[in-house]
Amino acid sequence: MSVNLPRLSAACLALLALYAVYQLVTPVVHADMASTSRPDNHGNVRVLNAKQGQVLYVTLSLPGNPLSVVGHFHNRRIPFFGTGEEGQFAALLGIDMADEPNTLGLKAEVSYADSMRQRVIAVSVAPEVFREQRMTLPKDKVEPDAASLERIAMEREKVQAVFAAFTPKRLWSEPFLVPVEGTITGAFGSKRILNGQSRNQHNGEDIAAALGTPVKATNDGIVKMVDDHFFSGKGVILDHGLGLYTMYFHLDTTAVKEGDHVERGQVIGTVGKSGRATGPHLHWGAWLNGSRVNPFSLTTLPLEKARH
Ligand SMILES: [Zn+2]
Repeated sequence: MSVNLPRLSAACLALLALYAVYQLVTPVVHADMASTSRPDNHGNVRVLNAKQGQVLYVTLSLPGNPLSVVGHFHNRRIPFFGTGEEGQFAALLGIDMADEPNTLGLKAEVSYADSMRQRVIAVSVAPEVFREQRMTLPKDKVEPDAASLERIAMEREKVQAVFAAFTPKRLWSEPFLVPVEGTITGAFGSKRILNGQSRNQHNGEDIAAALGTPVKATNDGIVKMVDDHFFSGKGVILDHGLGLYTMYFHLDTTAVKEGDHVERGQVIGTVGKSGRATGPHLHWGAWLNGSRVNPFSLTTLPLEKARH
């Protein structure tokens, strides 16, 4: 298939121009984000610049006391919450690590008592540079037998069931913490080649630390899963509400049980090398409304307005 690049970029520019015009003729839309942005002369941001695997903090200032705001990005539902400031709503928007680099709209449906309006924010997704990691592991950890494959399928189903249950309330109000002190390996999104065979992109970040180092909850939430997985070892999944989950794997011990409410900074387990791990480290993952995102992106969000 041949691709006409000039035509593609012309289409891109036309789309951007369309959004610029749309925003000029509609009420002011403020949008804040963690990293770069392009404000116009009035300080309003028209295009949010993002990278694969990033989390953005998006805010909308809306007139007339809307009842609720729900966004749509790709086929994902993005719930907004009131920040406590009059007319201001915010959302965490996840860019999946495999989202195609492109510019597309975050469409926010704004519900009033007697009407519905739509706001569109352009989001420009740039590619992230992911590493390639080659590793040699014992054969039974790369090519599991039939019984192990059955176990792996069941574990996956259970995790998917956890993600499918949506808590319609934001459970956190403070900034997100890094769960363990250690060496960040930069493994998020890396393309892994195990014993010469290609595997899925690595869906979390690894932090190397001594065996037994305490692992803390990144923020307030509810324990939705405590389990021992074939590949990921002992793990905990926390639900922070509004479709955000964080995962902590390869633990040596766990210190919480399913259903527990945990506070930001509470110790939930210790660093280990359970499952398929070559040394003690924490596998830290985050799942946000259908997107696999880099959990470190949560720790740099400008959340001062969300603390109410
Ligand atoms: Zn990992």
